Amino acid sequence: MSTKNRIAIVVSIISVIFIGGFITYTLLRSDTVTDVVVIGAGASGMSAAIEAADAGFDVILLEKMPYVGGNTARATAGINIVGSPFQDEMGIVDSKELFVNDVLVSGHSLNNKIMVEKLANESSDALNWLDNMGADLTDIGILAGHAVPRTLRPSGGQPVGSEIVRVLKKNVDEKGIDLRLENKAISILTEASGEVSGVSVVDRSGRTYTIHAKNVIIATGGFGGSPEMYVYYNQELKGYKTTNSPSATGDFITLVAPLDVKLVDMSYIQTHPTVSYEYGMLITEAIRGNGGILINNKGLRFSDELENRDLLSADILSQPDQEVYLVFNEEIKTSLASSSDYINMDIILSADTLDSLAEQMRIDKQTFQKTIVNYNQFVAQQSDTDFGRRSLERTLESGKYYAIQVIPGVHYCMGGILIDDKARAIDSKGQIIKGLYASGEATGGIHGLNRLGGNSLLDAVVFGRIAGRLGQK
Ligand SMILES: Cc1cc2nc3c(=O)[nH]c(=O)nc-3n(C[C@H](O)[C@H](O)[C@H](O)COP(=O)(O)OP(=O)(O)OC[C@H]3O[C@@H](n4cnc5c(N)ncnc54)[C@H](O)[C@@H]3O)c2cc1C
Repeated sequence: MSTKNRIAIVVSIISVIFIGGFITYTLLRSDTVTDVVVIGAGASGMSAAIEAADAGFDVILLEKMPYVGGNTARATAGINIVGSPFQDEMGIVDSKELFVNDVLVSGHSLNNKIMVEKLANESSDALNWLDNMGADLTDIGILAGHAVPRTLRPSGGQPVGSEIVRVLKKNVDEKGIDLRLENKAISILTEASGEVSGVSVVDRSGRTYTIHAKNVIIATGGFGGSPEMYVYYNQELKGYKTTNSPSATGDFITLVAPLDVKLVDMSYIQTHPTVSYEYGMLITEAIRGNGGILINNKGLRFSDELENRDLLSADILSQPDQEVYLVFNEEIKTSLASSSDYINMDIILSADTLDSLAEQMRIDKQTFQKTIVNYNQFVAQQSDTDFGRRSLERTLESGKYYAIQVIPGVHYCMGGILIDDKARAIDSKGQIIKGLYASGEATGGIHGLNRLGGNSLLDAVVFGRIAGRLGQK
């Protein structure tokens, strides 16, 4: 045989092996079988995936972005836990009933009370679970609308979201869960009977493949990152900036559109009162919780700064020129490590004296001085006779002083997929859709008209875990 022929044979063999391998790989990828597919790797999806893996199921966790975390990674202020050891240490008297009452007041009683009670009942178990995985949730504070401090975050007031994402991702990796980044779920497959049978996915190369699974958990988050969507569901939000991740595009809506899944409360979209006027960046509620106040361009306070988010947002929008500043001092800054992020940005004004800060805010110095002196007195006497502020943590007696111009911005979608207390998706006739579960911000009904700060992370972890148990408990 000539050398030329030998080379031709070798090339043919290599080609057959390569093409065969490619076809096998494609077939395998196009026909994957697993027990559970979780769509979305935020707090809710990762909690579901871990719980399902712990129950012995094979899990594939899909994430459309090149990284995990979604809106969860942006969370700063904290997660609500009733009856934590930190409350005990500080002598804070709390109860599930008090917490449920705060949630219902905040939600204007349009919440599903059974789900709210579930949240309250499962909160200390959620803390133990996160704690056992190595989460640092040891700093406690108060947020707007709460009767008592019960919101936990890492020591020194570090942001809570990155800590929760860190421990959940570490556990996903340690458990060997099949996490597929840049793999976007594009449709949910069902049998003629209506039972779930899998998910259609587009991978990072643009190729579509199928995962066969009898259980699908939708944990795609909300739609607050898409101005088109939030304006579609609530036209009053036209022109609003958003605090959300660009990943929050409401994919759950298109995923369930061909199914008979019931969506609820879709027009209930929360604005957060303190969003940076310039960049739409969220200025954490914990600054107000730790003592920050709001001042209008007349140099006056105008509300209880710890009023529920919807009411405080409305108060801000009714101020002259809608020009409002969040004012705090060095002591508050030091109490919250997360606030350091704002200091080096050009969104913040800073000064050693109140007069100098007033000058920069272009407000009347004497009025501003008087407002601060008054406020300090309220703190000293622990009673705000102007606006009935519910928690008076710190005076603003000493500098350095800081001010950030703020405006309400779109923050959270209360609406979404209707689920029951086992995270099972419900159809328009009130029936369970076999094999379909949902959790986190993709669901609706728990938070009513206005979510209480710190409750979304709790919701994502509690109902993510419940979803991962596939209706077992
Ligand atoms: C700036 C900011 C601060 C906040 N602070 C707090 C706080 O202090 N306390 C609190 O309780 N709540 C807070 N929240 C709200 C809270 O962070 C979120 O509501 C919560 O984390 C939502 O969790 P999730 O898992 O449901 O969704 P997400 O964390 O948004 O995760 C959803 C994931 O699904 C992925 N995904 C979407 N569609 C698809 C698809 N088709 N295929 C595959 N993957 C998909 C997304 O890329 C994303 O990674 C804050 C929100 C923001 C924006």
